[in-house]
Amino acid sequence: MKDIEIAQQSEMLPIVEIAKKAGLSEDEIEQYGPYKAKIGLPLSARPKTKQKLILVTAVNPTPAGEGKSTVTVGLGDALNLSGQKAMIALREPSLGPVMGMKGGATGGGYSQVVPMEDINLHFTGDMHALTTANNTLAALIDNHIYQGNKLGIDQRRVIWKRVLDINDRALRHVVIGIGGITQGIPREDGFDITVASEMMAILCLATDIADLKRRLGKIVIGYTFEKEPVTVDQLGVTGALALLLKDALKPNLVQTLAHTPAIIHGGPFANIAHGCNSVLATKTALQLADYTVTEAGFGADLGAEKFLDIKAPQLGKYPDTIVIVATVRALKMNGGVAKNELDHEDLVALENGFANLARHIKSMKRYNIPVVVAINRFMADTEAELTKLVELCAEIDTKAVVADVWAKGGTGALDLAQTVIKTCDKDVAPVELYAKEDLLEDKIKTIVTEIYGGKDVEFSPKALRQLQEFKTFGWDKLPVCMAKTQYSLSDDPKKLGAPTDFTIHVREFVPKLGAGFIVALTGNVLTMPGLPKVPAAMGMNLADDGTIIGLY
Ligand code: ADP
Repeated sequence: MKDIEIAQQSEMLPIVEIAKKAGLSEDEIEQYGPYKAKIGLPLSARPKTKQKLILVTAVNPTPAGEGKSTVTVGLGDALNLSGQKAMIALREPSLGPVMGMKGGATGGGYSQVVPMEDINLHFTGDMHALTTANNTLAALIDNHIYQGNKLGIDQRRVIWKRVLDINDRALRHVVIGIGGITQGIPREDGFDITVASEMMAILCLATDIADLKRRLGKIVIGYTFEKEPVTVDQLGVTGALALLLKDALKPNLVQTLAHTPAIIHGGPFANIAHGCNSVLATKTALQLADYTVTEAGFGADLGAEKFLDIKAPQLGKYPDTIVIVATVRALKMNGGVAKNELDHEDLVALENGFANLARHIKSMKRYNIPVVVAINRFMADTEAELTKLVELCAEIDTKAVVADVWAKGGTGALDLAQTVIKTCDKDVAPVELYAKEDLLEDKIKTIVTEIYGGKDVEFSPKALRQLQEFKTFGWDKLPVCMAKTQYSLSDDPKKLGAPTDFTIHVREFVPKLGAGFIVALTGNVLTMPGLPKVPAAMGMNLADDGTIIGLY
């Protein structure tokens, strides 16, 4: 059965009941229809929970599929089935991949969050609010320039782009303001996808309304003719932007197929942004449940690194356990097997591809946090392959547990839940990857050598020039948000497995002072994706009775 059919056949509980289960009263939520709600913050005082945090990450993604969200949901359900109070904190899907590539963002099989159609489409409107806030700022910048340009903004040096939550390659580079003197000041501009925007990062990192405003005010929109940075506070529009985000800032509450409360809030991509759901969502789940299962995007080299180095300091908490999702299929692909050959047993390819998982295990252990491998079972996996993978993990002192959550829901992850409960009880002192006061270029070098397993970093002449500028602005010690292909540990998507001796090429930096980090663009990674030859949109429909068809 397809994911959407399983979801459509499920019986959801009214959201007030889910809220009650999570320990929220009716007046602490704002209902968006019968099955969705926003949570009003701050929460009133309540007894302290165990506050155990489990971060789900994965090997590098392959077209074979890994199933991070599926395992996150299944593990949350399994913890509840085991008598624990657990909640899930996931990211909101972007319409870019929904319309572009096949593959859900709400889990799969019997481990899903629902209502999946709503969550995958417009949900509670957060993406629209973010897009609107972003583009309002863009309009205000261009209006400022048009109306006399009091701040002396150099229109050739505006770095604030417009955004859209759709893959649209034709908008990557545009010229605006053409058509005559009353149409604005012509300049080159471009669009990013909303989930790569600084607005999204700010929403995800803000700890309350005051922090949201502080961050919005610090956004650098471009430079003056004297090459001085210009901020949103200088434009005087911080308040208006905060207003547009007032509801989007509140976390969204939904449920899993097994009625586990799930918070879904904020959705930056992990390849071109920081890849984690909001700090407020995770904090809220930690306040309400003993075990919070959350997820960071793509492989551990991207989402988990950013969770640990960017989000955790804002959250004031590191995970108590890191779960790395691996599949026999993905590892066989990393070991050189073609996509259409994955259904045949191949222990040699599995062992070769294991190098990718081993690299991620090593890099996550670098933080001194317990690591568990969840083997997301696919139907074609053989017992010999599953056993082999458990053994390969044991050889590097890592516990691996088979999770059958796609086919069985939470009951397929009871062993994984027991393992995680045990590892969460360990008393550990997480170790930071880099010191706050390290220089930007040194932080990047540390990520490349310690997390990616690479040899060196090469900066383009433009990036080197920017590093000099950042020194004069005092931005040279900010955290770094790497923008890199998700498919490889290197910046070349074709280098699968665990490449060594590679160099990462930083072509440009994008300062994001409101988010509090500098984005380093590597290789050919794009902040506005394109659609594939046959977009997922081609298979979608709305039946005359309102039934949604083809959304996974
Ligand atoms: P990720 O979070 O890693 O991107 P998802 O959990 O969203 O992956 O899963 C991607 C797709 O793969 C979904 O359509 C899901 O139904 C499918 N999938 C995940 N795990 C399995 C499995 N064990 N067997 C079959 N399909 C699966």
